[in-house]
Amino acid sequence: MSMHKHVVIAGAGPAGLACARAILTAAPGTDILLLEAGRPYRRRPCPVDRGRTCTGCAGICNVISGFGGSMHYGDGAKLSLLPSGRRLVPHLGADRAGELCETAFAWLTEPLGRTPELLGEHLTGRAVDAFAAHSLRIREYPVAVLGESDLSTVIAGWHDLLASNVDLWHTSELTDAKKHGQHLELTVRTGPGEERRVSCDHLVLATGRRGVTSTTDLLKRLGVPTELPDISVGVRLEMAVGLLEAIGAEHPDLKVSQLDHAQKIKSFCFCGGPNGGRIKVTNYQGAFGEEVLTLDGHETTERVPTGERPLAANFGLLCQVQGRGNALEARDSFIATYRRLAGGRPFAQSLRGFLTRRADAASWPELHARMPFQPSVLDLTAGPVDQLFTDAEHTSLTAGFRRFMGSILAHSHLGLTVDDVLDDVLVVGPELEFLWDKPAIDADCKVAGLPIHVVGDSAGIAQGIVQAAMMGIAAGRRIATSTSRTRATARR
Ligand SMILES: Cc1cc2nc3c(=O)[nH]c(=O)nc-3n(C[C@H](O)[C@H](O)[C@H](O)COP(=O)(O)OP(=O)(O)OC[C@H]3O[C@@H](n4cnc5c(N)ncnc54)[C@H](O)[C@@H]3O)c2cc1C
Repeated sequence: MSMHKHVVIAGAGPAGLACARAILTAAPGTDILLLEAGRPYRRRPCPVDRGRTCTGCAGICNVISGFGGSMHYGDGAKLSLLPSGRRLVPHLGADRAGELCETAFAWLTEPLGRTPELLGEHLTGRAVDAFAAHSLRIREYPVAVLGESDLSTVIAGWHDLLASNVDLWHTSELTDAKKHGQHLELTVRTGPGEERRVSCDHLVLATGRRGVTSTTDLLKRLGVPTELPDISVGVRLEMAVGLLEAIGAEHPDLKVSQLDHAQKIKSFCFCGGPNGGRIKVTNYQGAFGEEVLTLDGHETTERVPTGERPLAANFGLLCQVQGRGNALEARDSFIATYRRLAGGRPFAQSLRGFLTRRADAASWPELHARMPFQPSVLDLTAGPVDQLFTDAEHTSLTAGFRRFMGSILAHSHLGLTVDDVLDDVLVVGPELEFLWDKPAIDADCKVAGLPIHVVGDSAGIAQGIVQAAMMGIAAGRRIATSTSRTRATARR
């Protein structure tokens, strides 16, 4: 039997949660069904975080699925405000983007009962000069670091706020949508071999990483035009916390712009505060055919070293794909190489081996034991990470690393150069970013001619927690406006 809901939101990450709240704020009492493919927020442990092997968690990766979405209960997160995610500004309009950013930040931090400190602006001359000497400019924008306890409070707060006001179904995945008159008819997988049918007036797709290919496929089935994304590939570099600590204190989400015409690289998800960060393993399951695991990082504030060695810090370094054809061909060729080299599971190489394209003789246990810090992930093998990249990509990454790390070390007072740390840094691969096709959506993230909004990472415009929430709010307000109009017409 089919049930009818006014609004169905697929995905309980920051985009879906903020969308639900925006609708309820502007049109209280709206009948909302929030579908979440993953588990409840307290049931999202990741075996890799506990030093074990990634098992795929029965087809639902707990790092990217569950209430909170890619905000994982038990991890920390950084909230980076505009101009981080600046591609949203022309999409949403400058004034509106500013207001949405303020609202998103206020809502996201409301459960904390205080406004977290914002860093990342008003950098010291020493930081500016150290990067300028390598023709790099640090991108300044406000960033708040939420530690593990803070993020847990935020996620629990969102749950308390919404659970009593929306119908929340966990382990329930939207698998299809068809237009039926004014409504949409949805298919929802609620368990192995179990499906439910739901019809709705509005559908919001806030499916983030888990929906990276399935949401594009769904939109294509509905005839929505999509544009291929830009794809960046790279590695995550892990090292002793002391190497990144000084610059991390100035800018917790360090990103740079290049002041010259060198091949463009970017740092991604910098995790270099006083407690460093953990490398996270994301299991895309069958999104790209066979199982594929990629990397991310998250900053920590509460880890305690378990041995003699200091904790690890990390950052991602990415370059545009080069010499691999269009975005889809590039993605497929990169993943095929990754499968061939490492079976689609993260692997590691010494920095010296990576830069010189020479395989390490050491096994993973030897490499692990040799590092002057505690690697944050045990579930790795040693292998030729450099072979993931074309010559052009490898040249970009190595030249970019020397400039970026050279600037960090120059700023650090440690008196070290890049050549001094060649045996002290692990290169872990792969990072793979901006995979989402870009559906044609308007300034409220609505698809033309269909009662569908696409928000957050799935919109393919900008990544980030605040940015996802901004899009969710924009879409939610539009839905609430049309809901209020429909109610007013019905009363007349
Ligand atoms: C490990 C990691 C660390 C990160 N750290 C930061 C950080 O510190 N700061 C920052 O700004 N950004 C960070 N990011 C990126 C940020 O988390 C994302 O940009 C943001 O969460 C996107 O929000 P979203 O709501 O669009 O998608 P997501 O947060 O990915 O949430 C999507 C949700 O939808 C669910 N879903 C998917 N498909 C379906 C379906 N068909 N039906 C029902 N439910 C579905 C998923 O299970 C998931 O829970 C990090 C990402 C990762 C993976």
